Amino acid sequence: MFKKIKKISIIGSTGSIGSQGLEVVRNNPEMKVETLAAKSNIKELEKQIREFKPKKVCVFEEDKALELKHKVKDLDVGVLYGMDGLIECACDNDSEYLLSAVVGMIGILPTLWAIKSQKKIALANKETLVCAGHIIMPLAKEKNVPILPVDSEHSAIFQSLNGERENKIKKIILTCSGGPFRGYSLKDLEKVTVGDALKHPNWNMGKKITVDSATLVNKGLEVMEASWLFDTCYKDIEVMIHPESVIHSAVQFEDNAVIAQMGVPDMKLPIQYALTYPKRLPMKENELDLFELGSLTFEKPDIKVFKGLGLAFYAMEKGGNVPAVYNAANEIAVGKFLDGKIGFLDIPDMIEKCIEKMPFIANPSVDDILGVMEEAKEYIGK
Ligand code: NDP
Ligand code: MG
Repeated sequence: MFKKIKKISIIGSTGSIGSQGLEVVRNNPEMKVETLAAKSNIKELEKQIREFKPKKVCVFEEDKALELKHKVKDLDVGVLYGMDGLIECACDNDSEYLLSAVVGMIGILPTLWAIKSQKKIALANKETLVCAGHIIMPLAKEKNVPILPVDSEHSAIFQSLNGERENKIKKIILTCSGGPFRGYSLKDLEKVTVGDALKHPNWNMGKKITVDSATLVNKGLEVMEASWLFDTCYKDIEVMIHPESVIHSAVQFEDNAVIAQMGVPDMKLPIQYALTYPKRLPMKENELDLFELGSLTFEKPDIKVFKGLGLAFYAMEKGGNVPAVYNAANEIAVGKFLDGKIGFLDIPDMIEKCIEKMPFIANPSVDDILGVMEEAKEYIGK
């Protein structure tokens, strides 16, 4: 039988999600990559170009793009650069899907333009909804574009809602591994190093999200993301620590039935599901063995110790540009922490300081949101 080829653009293809997205494509002959984009890792991008033969790529940094252009001059591939190039790759005419797998607020504009160009969005880049959910969600509705969650918790909620669209959500239960510092006191956290923070117990991810998982800021960002994706007030989203990361999240309905999605912690499943929804395709590896696990455990998060999570709820209560300020301050602070310039506990402190100081905007435009990053740098230093 003739199968339609699924054409996909991937921005952030050299990262953790991007490279797992390419693994999904590699395992599915009915998928084809049309465009790829990265920031500067041209060594990996060249390998990807030679294997997946996209017609266009973007390297954000211009000098790296020129270098890559020279390296792949034997191939028929266009090499673009900068935000214009990133947007062109995200909106490629032939692609049906955009897998948005860049890290940080840089994802907002290409995703916005891809929605305008009516691409289906497989969304890993949570910062887009955190900062601009009030613009992205109505636009997606207007353009009749699905936003298909890739984040494992949101994919689990999405799967738990299959066939339930008419039923009211009573509560979303957002699971959280607890990260490498689960059970630590504030005193313990004073001493942790970058190396400690990068050792996530269950997931192998990019550096920024790994640190976010250690501070629990990632969970704060995910509550915001879930609130936009599933049109649910943050007050009805409960964070539950579940160290085994097997229940990826759950929905409780009004009759108190709780529907959850389970699986081994591997991002390939949510990536593939976003690209094949509503169909499920076979997955070679990672069958869940509940007998081997034996038991599953649950705890409440400690927001006195993990202040970043509490601040996320505060940011949602304030609304307007405050979630964007929370996100921007975190991006800057995590960068500083990874560079060894600040301590682990300075991350939530910097977020708090930034939220206190930055002027409130009730209904921020895209420009206001992008401006937040520059302004936040003024307040907490580059
Ligand atoms: P990584 O740091 O591993 O990868 C980031 C990717 O984005 C790289 O390809 C990087 O390119 C690219 N990139 C960064 N800046 C730019 C830019 N200016 N222009 C073009 N490309 C750029 O991140 P992850 O894959 O871990 O995370 C990606 C997103 O997915 C994040 O928003 C994260 O929160 C979310 N997510 C990740 C999960 C995971 O398991 N990793 C799980 C759930 C969500 P280069 O390599 O050249 O620097
Ligand atoms: Mg997640």
